[in-house]
Amino acid sequence: MKIQEYQAKELLAERGVPIPRGQALSSATEARGVARELGGAVVVKAQVLAGGRGKAGGIKLAATPKKAAEATRSILGSRLSTYQSGGEGFEVATVLIEEQVPIARELYLAITTDRATACETIIASAHGGMDIEEIAATDPAAILRETVLPASGLWPFQIRKIAAGLKLEREPAKLLGKILSQLIACYRELDCDLLEINPLAVTTDGRLVALDAKMNIEDNAIYRQPRLKEMGGGEAEDANEAEAARIGVSYIRMDGDIGCVVNGAGLAMTTMDILHLFGGQAANFLDVGGSADADRIAGALRLILTDPEVKVIFINIFGGILRCDIFARGLLEAVKQAEAKVPLVVRLIGTNQEEGKRILDRSGLSFIVNDDLESAAAQAVAIAKGSQS
Ligand code: GDP
Ligand code: MN
Repeated sequence: MKIQEYQAKELLAERGVPIPRGQALSSATEARGVARELGGAVVVKAQVLAGGRGKAGGIKLAATPKKAAEATRSILGSRLSTYQSGGEGFEVATVLIEEQVPIARELYLAITTDRATACETIIASAHGGMDIEEIAATDPAAILRETVLPASGLWPFQIRKIAAGLKLEREPAKLLGKILSQLIACYRELDCDLLEINPLAVTTDGRLVALDAKMNIEDNAIYRQPRLKEMGGGEAEDANEAEAARIGVSYIRMDGDIGCVVNGAGLAMTTMDILHLFGGQAANFLDVGGSADADRIAGALRLILTDPEVKVIFINIFGGILRCDIFARGLLEAVKQAEAKVPLVVRLIGTNQEEGKRILDRSGLSFIVNDDLESAAAQAVAIAKGSQS
């Protein structure tokens, strides 16, 4: 789960991490007063759950309270689409107004859990700011990594190594050590799976200030983080994924044009692989789960059909707990409910498969039923490519 920058900063500030003074607003009327209180020159920042806001026009420097009010009016309610947000982007419901900080340099600092070492890892770079992804791609040596051992934490020599890599003088290096231990404590206490400060500004007077904060919480730990649970949920990270969570299916949109309805995550991945093997591309990952009823299947079909790229739907069901006849009845109902107009290739195998197929046969609807996974996948690919309909 992601939370907004202003929420993450509030949590960091409580733990002693230096952040700029500021206030979150969801109406433009207070902007002027807030800016005046902050000293006039401020930064107005769109609060959306995606990075890359700066480059997309979601971060505006305002030299006067009047300009701050203008910037707030232009950002609030607008749609912000960044390279991370996906097509339609996000409507901005909240802005964060902060005092301007005199920046000398922008550093990158993050903590994440490295699955290879099963430890937290500090990632740091002297080249923070808006081009960090580019630097990671072109100059990977400019990115430092240090493993945090669970029992001992970060050792002083590791802090010195990071500080040297970030080219920090003695005083800021001390500040960095403190911030690192605050960030690690925060990461653990709040069950984060990513805590990223980009940029961590070195100010012209030698302070370190977290100018941006991205905090992702491990979904499986939300149950024991009631305060964070409250913070999330206000804004869906992706409208379709939120709808999927509501109907109880796992759905992730992909770039292809073959919609997939599958039961079981492993089979869903296999299905995507086999489509790929035959030259096609899945439009989504979708696991309807073990006990899918008509409503859930209909919901899944509707989700898939919201994607205008989808040219065919490939249904690959292995009837175990979910019997094929029950699935077939659910599917008929779902196709009517969801008004599916694209061709449906159906592979239905397992418990009561004959009964399931009879139900589809007798329905009068035109399903392309095929028991063989490979040729069914090939058929779906051919339809998507327009070489068969
Ligand atoms: P992101 O693009 O979504 O990562 O948004 P950030 O919060 O990182 O802001 C993007 C850029 O805006 C930063 O890299 C800074 O260069 C600039 N910026 C943010 N806050 C301030 C500030 O207080 N003062 C100044 N001068 N620039 C800022
Ligand atoms: Mn940033």
